[in-house]
Amino acid sequence: MPITEVEKIWKDGELVDWADANVHVLSHAVHYGSGVFEGIRAYETARGPAVWHLDEHLKRLFRSAKLYHMEIPYSIEAITDATKDVIRANGLDACYVRPLVLRGYGEMGVNPLNAPVNVFIAVWPWGAYLGEDALEQGVRIKISSWRRNSQNALPSSAKASGQYINGVLAKIESLKAGYDEAVMLNEQGFITDGSGENLFIVREGRLTTPPISAGCLDGITRGSVLAIARDLGYDVTEENLVRTDLYNADECFFTGTAAEITPIREVDDRAVGEGHRGPITKELQGAFFAATKGETERYASWLTYVND
Ligand code: PMP
Repeated sequence: MPITEVEKIWKDGELVDWADANVHVLSHAVHYGSGVFEGIRAYETARGPAVWHLDEHLKRLFRSAKLYHMEIPYSIEAITDATKDVIRANGLDACYVRPLVLRGYGEMGVNPLNAPVNVFIAVWPWGAYLGEDALEQGVRIKISSWRRNSQNALPSSAKASGQYINGVLAKIESLKAGYDEAVMLNEQGFITDGSGENLFIVREGRLTTPPISAGCLDGITRGSVLAIARDLGYDVTEENLVRTDLYNADECFFTGTAAEITPIREVDDRAVGEGHRGPITKELQGAFFAATKGETERYASWLTYVND
């Protein structure tokens, strides 16, 4: 999806012009994928822009960095303030937020420990990740022939740049075959996640999503949807799923910061349920988007207001 450029990017403690937020071609991250990042959204509310689950996203960023022994030279509070600053500086009401911590320029070779660490926070307006129609019409997905990397090869709890090359293979395969997105199985044949989304099914009014131990990312939208669904009175379980569970589901949907709650209308050319967005998916979307707008008192703590 093309990026809509704005004015400023936060880089190592200051706001720089968009065009100046560069790294050297010999940076460690460019060669070895040694970066960790987050994907966050800020939503428009009656009290100005508000960042959705900022604290949880930043905690995950710091956990990812710790796993790769990257020292982030700022506190969570400083990155929180920087996120608010860069949204304000660009005058955005709603946007995507992409913090990126990477091993920069200075050393070559696999050993990353002597490379400097650079921190960037970019923001830009971003629409529906899987297409403007997708939130209503749903998407068509393919179970990838590529397996999700095992957790003892690359830990799925970390959101690290280099790890995404696995999802890139699956995404390319699905697009070339005419689908919108891929879902990967783990080496045991259980469902993990999409290339950038967790997945839920609905069967006879019950919701199920794969457990984190299947090897999917511990998605923050997944957590929000688990809470919202339980609060709405649904029975929700985290259980291993196989591909036929998707074929036989009444409803199926993705969750993710970029994808929000996107219905899945077809899996491997088989219609899911009636082949369009189901009623429970629609209800969850309604509750989710109301919360992102700051309209739900119960979830007020999930928003960090940029102008406060
Ligand atoms: N799985 C993968 C592989 C992802 O990249 C993402 C996006 N971060 C997700 C799931 C969904 O996570 P979240 O809800 O935290 O955006």
